Amino acid sequence: MKNIDWGNLSFGYSKTNYNVRSYWRNGQWGELEISSSDTINIHMAATCLHYGQEAFEGMKVFKGKDGKTRVFRWEENAKRLQTSATGILMSTVPKKLFKKAIDTVVKLNKEFIPPYESGASLYLRPLLIGTGPQVGVKPADEFLFMIFVTPVGPYFKEGFKPVSIQIARDADRAAPLGTGSIKVGGNYAASLSSSERAHHEGFSSVLYVDAKEKKYIDECGPANFFAIKGNNYITPKSPSILPSITNKSLMTIAEDMGMTVERRQVPVEELSEFDECGACGTAAVISPIKNILDRDTGKEYKFCPDGNAGPISTKLYNRLRAIQYGDETDKFGWVTILE
Ligand SMILES: *Cc1c(COP(=O)(O)O)cnc(C)c1O
Repeated sequence: MKNIDWGNLSFGYSKTNYNVRSYWRNGQWGELEISSSDTINIHMAATCLHYGQEAFEGMKVFKGKDGKTRVFRWEENAKRLQTSATGILMSTVPKKLFKKAIDTVVKLNKEFIPPYESGASLYLRPLLIGTGPQVGVKPADEFLFMIFVTPVGPYFKEGFKPVSIQIARDADRAAPLGTGSIKVGGNYAASLSSSERAHHEGFSSVLYVDAKEKKYIDECGPANFFAIKGNNYITPKSPSILPSITNKSLMTIAEDMGMTVERRQVPVEELSEFDECGACGTAAVISPIKNILDRDTGKEYKFCPDGNAGPISTKLYNRLRAIQYGDETDKFGWVTILE
C-alpha cells in the first residue's frame, strides 16, 4: 500500500505507475502498450489539437469491505465512447479492447486503489484522440486510445453538501443538433468561460437552458439535472444533454423505490414546484442543490430548508454508493469484479 493520505485526496491528477495505450494505424488497433510516462508524443498537426477530434470517458473503481475491486457499469462507458467516436468520425474502440485496457491498467496500479474506509476511489480516464496529421479539415487516419488512472478523494469531504447553481442564458454549452449528446472535449471548451464566470460569482455550476427556446432546463454544468416532486423523479429530455450513466442508474433505483420517473422537457419556472434538486455524474454521484439563482431575472429558487440534502436525494445517493462499494447486493448487475 502506498503512503497516500487517502482521506485528503482531491479530484485532481496524481501520478500513478502506469497507463495503457493502443494506436489505430493502417485500419486496425495495435497491441495494448503499457507506459510509465505521463506524457504522449504526437504530431503537431494531429487533428485532436486543431479540430477537436477528442472524446473521453470517466469511470470509477472501488475497493469493497471484502477487499474486492469493483468497476461500475463499464460496458455503458464502452458503448458511450463508441457513440462519441462515431459522432466525430473517429475509429471506435471495441468493447474487448476497452475491457482489456481497464483490467490491465487497474492491475498495474493496484496500490493506488484507495481502501474501503477512506470513501475514496480510483478514477479511470479513457481518452480517444485523432493523432494523424491533417491541415485541411478532415478526420485523422490515426488514433490513440488510452486510459490513465488517478486516485480521487470522496467528492464531499465534509459529507454530502448542497451547492449553489446559476442560470445564465447568455451562454450555450451545446447546440440542439450539435455535439451535446456525446462526451467530447469541444463541449467543455464551449462551456469554460460561462462556467468560470459562475465560479467567480460564487456558484458551483451553470444550469444551462435549451439553446433554441431558452425555456427548458438542459445540462447542469458537467452533470445531468434531476428533481424530486412528490413521488416523482424528473429529469430533462433534450437532444443536447449527455446521457449520464449515473442518471440512468438513479432512474432505475428511483423506480425500484416505487417512484415514477419522468424524462421530459422541464420548463425553468417548474423549479418553484420541486421538493429537491440535484446534479448527477460519476465524480460526485449526486450534488444536492440548495439554491438556483436566475442571473437574468434575479429570481432565486431555494431548496434544502435545513441546509442538508433532501431525504430522497440522500436515499438515492446512499443506495448507489452502496452498490458501487459492494455493500448492497448488485441486483441490477452493474458491478464487475476485477482481479
Ligand atoms: C460525463 C458527463 C456527465 C455525467 O455522466 P456520468 O456517466 O454519470 O459520469 C454529465 N454531463 C456531461 C456534460 C458529461 O460530460
